Parts: sequence; C-alpha cells; structure tokens
Amino acid sequence: MKIVSIIVDVPAKQTDRAFDYFIPDEYEEIIKPGMRVIVPFGPRKVQGFVVAIQEESDFPQLKEIIEPMDIEPALTNELLLLGDWLTDNTLCYKISAFQAMLPAALKAKYQKKVQVVDGSLFQKASEKIQALFQGVSTLNWEEVKNSGLLSAVQKEVATGSMEVIYEVKGKINKKKKKYVFPNGTTSELQMKKNQLSTRAIKQKEVVDYFIEYPHPVEHRFILSELGISSAIIKGLVEKGILQEKEMEVYRDPYQDRIFEKTEPLTLTKEQDEAITPILGAIEKEMHQVFLLFGVTGSGKTEIYLQSIQEVLNKGKEAIVLVPEISLTPQMVKRFKGRFGNEVAVLHSGLSVGEKYDEWRKIHRKEVRVVVGARSAIFAPFENLGIIIIDEEHESSYKQEENPRYHARDVAIERGIYHHCPVILGSATPSLETFARAQKKVYQLLTLPKRMNNQALPTVNIVDMREELRDGNRSMFSKILFEKLQDRLEKQQQTVLLLNKRGHSSFVMCRDCGYVLNCPHCDISLTYHRFQSQMKCHYCGYETFVPTRCPECNSEHIRYFGTGTQKVEEELGKVLPEARVIRMDVDTTSRKGAHERLLTDFAEGKADILLGTQMIAKGLDFPNITLVGVLTADTMLHLPDFRSSEKTFQLLTQVSGRAGRHKLKGEVVIQTYSPEHYSVVLSGKQDFEQFYQHEMIERKLRAYPPFYFLSLITVQHENLMKVVSVTENITKYVESKLSNEAIILGPVASPIPRINDRYRYQCLIKYKREPKLGICLKAILDQYQQEISSNGLQISIDLNPNIMM
Ligand code: ADP
Ligand code: ZN
Ligand code: ZN
Repeated sequence: MKIVSIIVDVPAKQTDRAFDYFIPDEYEEIIKPGMRVIVPFGPRKVQGFVVAIQEESDFPQLKEIIEPMDIEPALTNELLLLGDWLTDNTLCYKISAFQAMLPAALKAKYQKKVQVVDGSLFQKASEKIQALFQGVSTLNWEEVKNSGLLSAVQKEVATGSMEVIYEVKGKINKKKKKYVFPNGTTSELQMKKNQLSTRAIKQKEVVDYFIEYPHPVEHRFILSELGISSAIIKGLVEKGILQEKEMEVYRDPYQDRIFEKTEPLTLTKEQDEAITPILGAIEKEMHQVFLLFGVTGSGKTEIYLQSIQEVLNKGKEAIVLVPEISLTPQMVKRFKGRFGNEVAVLHSGLSVGEKYDEWRKIHRKEVRVVVGARSAIFAPFENLGIIIIDEEHESSYKQEENPRYHARDVAIERGIYHHCPVILGSATPSLETFARAQKKVYQLLTLPKRMNNQALPTVNIVDMREELRDGNRSMFSKILFEKLQDRLEKQQQTVLLLNKRGHSSFVMCRDCGYVLNCPHCDISLTYHRFQSQMKCHYCGYETFVPTRCPECNSEHIRYFGTGTQKVEEELGKVLPEARVIRMDVDTTSRKGAHERLLTDFAEGKADILLGTQMIAKGLDFPNITLVGVLTADTMLHLPDFRSSEKTFQLLTQVSGRAGRHKLKGEVVIQTYSPEHYSVVLSGKQDFEQFYQHEMIERKLRAYPPFYFLSLITVQHENLMKVVSVTENITKYVESKLSNEAIILGPVASPIPRINDRYRYQCLIKYKREPKLGICLKAILDQYQQEISSNGLQISIDLNPNIMM
C-alpha cells in the first residue's frame, strides 16, 4: 500500500508535523497532495491535508486514512510549499497556514455533493457512471464514495462533466435556476420527434427548438420564448425527450452590471518609461520587485492594466491586491471594463458563498485575473505572470491574527516561485519599501506628475489654537467655513474628513478631571451618542452615562471629543442649506450602503461628504474642489512608531481628492500641531522630503527600516504570573541573541489590561539574528503546556504593525 504524509487539523505543538498513513487500495488512484482527507487520530476522526505521497515510512504500524474529502486538490503544490514558508516566517502551525489559504466555505460545516454539470459530456461517461446517476443530477458525497466508482467520478470531474459542490447547511445555499435540455443527441431527438403524436404540435415545436439549439436553456426563458405552458415541457420530460435540472448560477455580485469595454490608452512618455522594465521582466520570465511611485492620478492603474494584458497574452495569470477600503465599484469597474469575464473579485463585503464562488472560478481556471483584498494573495493560480499591490503602504495588508503574515512578503515569495514581477504601487510608499528602492533591492519607477497636468491643490494649514485664541470655539476654522460657504454658492462639492483614529469621545469631570474608565481594561470608555451609553472598545463592557461624577459628585461631568454625528449636527446649525452625506461605520454597516452613498454623492445629491478614514481613498469625482480635514493630528499621539508616517499618508491621500479634473482644488487642514513635519510636508505633498526627515527619526530611535522588530506579548489574569513569565522570556532572549540586538522588556503593554487580563511585553529590535526564529519557537514550546491548560497567552508578532 502507498503511504501519505498528512498534517492533521489539531493545532498544537505535538501535532505540528506530518503523520504517515496508508492509502487503502480503493483510494490509491484518487489521493493526491493538496487534498483534504479524514483520518483516525487517537480516538477521534480528524481532517488533514495530504502533503506528500511516498513509498515508505519510518514509522511502524500505520493506520489507514478513512476517506478523501476532496476530489481535486484544494491546495496546489506551490501553496503547500508556501504553507511551510508561512509557518517558518510567522511561527504559526502548519495547519493554520493551510487553513488561511482556503475560503471560509471550505472550513464551515457543509454538505458535499457531486453534480452533473454538462449533459452532453456526461452522455459519454461509462455505463456504470450513467447508472449511478440514473435520473438524478446530484448525489450526496456518501453515495458516490460508497459506490466504489470514486476514481471514475474523479475522471469525470477532470473532463468537466461533473463537479463537487459544497452546500453549507443553511449558510451558503447556491443560487439555482431550473434549466431544460435535450436528453440525447440531435438525431435521437429527430427520431423521438417523429414518434410524437401528430396533434402534439406545441411539443414538436419545442423539440425543433432543441434540435436547432442543443444546449441547456433556462426553463422560464423557454416558456416565454415559445409561448408555452410548463405542462408541455413536463410532458416531454416524462417521455424522456427532454431533461430538467436545477443548475447553479454564480452569485456574481457584479453580474447584473454591464461594464463598458475599455481599450488600452496610448501611454505617455513617462508611463512608457515606467512600463518598459515591467514588460521586460514579464517577457524574460524574471522575478523582480518594482516600486511604482506616483501621486494619485499619475496613471499607475493604466500601467497595471497594460502589464496584465501582456501577462494574459502570454497565457498567464495575474493577482491584483487593493486595500479593502478602496475596493470600490469604481476600482472594480476599471478591471472588469478591460478584462470582462476574466476577472474574479474577492473582498470582505461578499457573503461566504459569494467568496467561495469567486474562489472556484479561480480554482477551475475560469478567470485569469483576481482583484481582491489581502487574502486574495493566496489565489490558487498555477501560472502566475504578475502580482500587483496597489497602495502598498496600507496597514490592512498585514493580518493581525494567526498567521500574522504581510501580503507583500507573500507576494514576493510567490513571485520568486513563479519567476514573475511584483509591482508595489503608491504615492506614499512605506519607509521600508522606499528604503529598499533607494538601495536598489527594488527597482524604482517614478511617475512624476498627474495625468491631466493639473496642479496639485493648494493647501492651507490652520492652527486651531490660534482660532481658539481669537474666540472661535466652533469646530470649523474661519477659513474653512468661508470656503464651505463659497462652494455651496458655486454648487461645487466638498469632502470633510474627521480623523477618528486615536480619537475617541470620552467622559470627563470638569471639576476634578475624573475620566470614566473600563473596570476590566485600563482604557477610557467611549461615549456612544446614539444609544447614549458608554462602551469599552476592547472588552465590550457597557454602562450608562453618569449624571454626577462618581469621584466628587459634581454635576459638571460631560463628554469630550467629536464624532461624525456631532459634526453633522453642527453643519446643520451653521450651514442649514447644505445637503450632507455622512459616511462612517454606522451608516455603512449594511451591505451595499457604502456604494449607494458614494453614488448619491457622485450624482450630486449632496454638497458635502462627511466621513472618517474610509472617504480618504479612491474617490474620483470631478466636482470636488474642496477638502477639509477637521483634526489632522489625532494620530500623532498614538504609541506607534509609524504614527507620523500614517498621518502623512492620510493627509496626502485625502488632499489628493480635490481638483482631480478641470476645476482647481483646495485643501484646508486644521491642526493643533501645525509645525509637525508630517503635517507641513503633507501640505506640500512632498514625500521625498518626508522620507528624509522620517528616516533620521527612525535611525535615532532604532526603528524599521534600520532595525527589524519582534514583539512578544504575554497575557494572564494574574499580574505576578505575567511579570514573571515576561521576565523569564526576556532573559532567555537575551541569552540567545547577539549583543547587537536591543531587547526592551519586560514592560507593561501600552494597554496594560484588557478584559481583566494583564499584558506585558518584550520588544526585540535587531538587524541580523539568524537564531531568532529558533529562539522564539522554543519559547512557545516551553510554555505550550501552560498555554493550553491555565490560560496563559503568548503572542509573537514578527514585524508588528500595532504596538498596543
Ligand atoms: P492612478 O492609478 O495613478 O491614480 P490612473 O491610472 O487612474 O492613475 O490615471 C488617472 C486618469 O488618467 C484616469 O482617468 C485615466 O483614465 C487617465 N489616464 C491614464 N493613462 C492615460 C493615458 N495614457 N492617456 C490618457 N489618459 C490616461
Ligand atoms: Zn469629579
Ligand atoms: Zn473593557
């Protein structure tokens, strides 16, 4: 018997290796690497991934696998290798790495079925197979498996006459429509038609239709097309002339929309210079990383589109990552417009079922381009010709749970495997990326100006402290207010950004300064205006807003801070005639709401678009001539070494919304730190100067890109325990690493307690520590027992984004 190596679905240290099993003879032909199987594991039956097939094993007394779960491998060989890489590079378990690469539908509880999808191909299947599916189009997996014909069914799936489908119970039912199609060849139809009674005129008409057009036709359609009742069809089905079947239709979220076909534009000289090296790498099948550095509107997307076209011409595939938040219909339209049905779209707004549908289009090679958010980097293409990451600096490309991977790193790893170029695009690249481009690790391609040669908008930086001194207590500075009025008169549009990150509305006593904190976490509670409640954003604790200070009993306890609702109310007072669309988590939580609000704004149904970060990107409306940023600097005070960088990026992005077309744009940035370099330089849209300045800061403070970081966070409900474990870990790390490494700890985390669990951390800064991986793995192994038994939690983030 043949032997398979399997990674079982038991995420623990002891099981984080391959186990060997025999393949029973009946499955010998079927089982392939990348498939999921059910195996006995101790007293249990568990799922596992086949990672290799081999002739022998070092282990005596192997058990047999129980049954396959897939008929085609869920993971390609490349993705299996990538799983090993993820495990090494994020310190996750192998099983977690594999699971991360699959759509959620494959992880949920499902009912698996085999379905005939192509009637005419099915006609050519063996008699046994035809008998198995006698009179039905769908069989449960169990029936197929027990028939002893699994291997024959596998061949049918390979030819495309059948496929395996998953019906998640109650969760993702496929959208189906009833279809009618001929039962037999055209000549058989002709024969059967001649046997029909002469009075069956309508029935003959239907048969004629199918003689002419021997393909499945939607039931509803044929009724209206021929003006017949369903009884006619029913009669023909009973006579064995036609067949009826429920067939799945893809729940393509964009299917009802028509995307106007676009043609490649003639590139400008700058674009031509930028695309040439990319096309060269595609041509030579060479891996290379490019940084495409250009402001918004400089023509980057057109370069992506034409590079992808070249890849498709060579018969290869493309992955395009865009940040979740900018995966707007506008963006999708540009790709669908150029490549039509070749494009699958993956983003979190899709239901589990819709995502699975899109994934299957990729898996079955029905599409060759995928546009999606972070996890689309695992698209199971086997012949990749290019990977593009737009807005490469976005923090959403890093996954903040296990496996803690960065999509950029995965992209480069896949690019190496496929010998294909990786393009990182941005107007404000991350410091790490720009530094690598400076060192020529990446090739820098620059698009220096906007397409329409439109000048960048003029930026006014307003010092809000001065406004206050001049007696202006409103949230709008004098100049912003005047410009708002001016735009209303001219019937032009304004975008107002309220920078909420790092900014919450808290309740404070004006007399004694008491701040209402969460009793379980060391963080202030956030005021929620809508329900008039106080909530903890970390543990969910809720309480009523106090009317008196719990500390000094004063009545002067009130909330501080600004929310979008409050700005909206304020606008209603000072500019009652302005029509405002508010976009924040509350107004966009329902599916499609985000898009509808934007469409309304595009159609001129409002004068002002007011929102949080989510409005900063991707908007491209000709009538926007004013952008106002209400509070530019709230992020600067977060415990995050990237806070200046993020502030610069956000302000630059949002400023780019104004005057993208014929009308000239203006920007007003209100701030309490007008002298801060990230505010000043974003006003000038001067990335390179910002880069120079920020690099000096990073060097001084030993942060990336000069040092790598690893963050170990320890959590437990007992403070003494947390401190002692973190102390031991820190000592251990110190003993294992070189003197070059900077080890900071043990210290309390910036949020020292969440949900009654204390948090301590150890931060490691290093340049080159080949032993670090082994050292960190050893820490996890050392505490494995306690992690699984007494609630100790140790998380390790290599290259952390958030330092909380
Ligand atoms: P970016 O992706 O850098 O924001 P785009 O590719 O969206 O820039 O280009 C900005 C605008 O210029 C778009 O409306 C696009 O259609 C147009 N554009 C891009 N390249 C060309 C070209 N070569 N000729 C004419 N128009 C172009
Ligand atoms: Zn008080
Ligand atoms: Zn809390």
